[in-house]
Amino acid sequence: MTRTVYVNGQYLPENEATISIFDRGFLFADGVYEVTSVLGGKLIDFDGHAVRLERSLNELDMGHPITKEDLLEVHRELVRVNEIEDGLVYLQVTRGAADRDFAYPGSDTPQTIVLFTQAKPGLADSPAAKTGIKVISIEDQRWGRRDIKTVQLLYPSMGKMAAKAAGCDDAWMVEDGAVTEGTSNNAYIVKGNTIITRQLSNDILHGITRAAVLRFAKEAQMKVEERPFTIEEAQGADEAFVTSASTFVMPVVEIDGASVGTGEPGSVAKRLREIYLEESLKTAV
Ligand code: PMP
Repeated sequence: MTRTVYVNGQYLPENEATISIFDRGFLFADGVYEVTSVLGGKLIDFDGHAVRLERSLNELDMGHPITKEDLLEVHRELVRVNEIEDGLVYLQVTRGAADRDFAYPGSDTPQTIVLFTQAKPGLADSPAAKTGIKVISIEDQRWGRRDIKTVQLLYPSMGKMAAKAAGCDDAWMVEDGAVTEGTSNNAYIVKGNTIITRQLSNDILHGITRAAVLRFAKEAQMKVEERPFTIEEAQGADEAFVTSASTFVMPVVEIDGASVGTGEPGSVAKRLREIYLEESLKTAV
């Protein structure tokens, strides 16, 4: 089936959708994005993603080319016409097309807005959630505003390739000796009944799944400590896991070749995954 995508107000077959070669998203990575998961045909944590999009746009002095209500409508329409039961909706907004110049074009430049779906049957039952994933550590060489969800994803892509080359699934990035986050997820360790994850700052993306998972963890009487941790501390922890909109809560069983805990997905990660899936389905739209 040819996907229907959304480009600047139009629903089009994917092979007819085009944007300008002068688009600043293409030339300068001058764009922001969001990824919202779909389970059972419904959007998970839509509100959180819409709010973070607004924040990313504000931080970069970009306009808001679409209202939250219309954005929800476009998401839903794409899920409907593409018959997405489980999958993702990708959204990207750029500063638009203008003759190449480092300075931003005038604010009257029409922005580019693109959305498309990706079908992922069985997204919530991925085999990796049962086995856990293996990560390597790499230096965090990204820019200093990781709290803005920009499309500058080359370094995370390089990290993912380094992980694959090492026979692993992902990379945790390390700065000044402490873990920042995974290439496309937030990182956690568990010691006893305490969940430890780096505090929010410009150093990491403020994960929408992170916010929900920490809320559910506190509600379930688990202790949450928001502070940096090292790779050595993680290797010696009882459990480790990552969170993101596309993987929910994913256990990590190996870090730089060392098994974490028993080397199997831990009970806290498993429980948080169950709670997250159950609770976020209740508010899915
Ligand atoms: N950190 C980074 C660097 C990411 O790319 C992502 C996924 N977009 C996350 C964390 C997790 O954020 P979310 O839970 O909002 O998907």
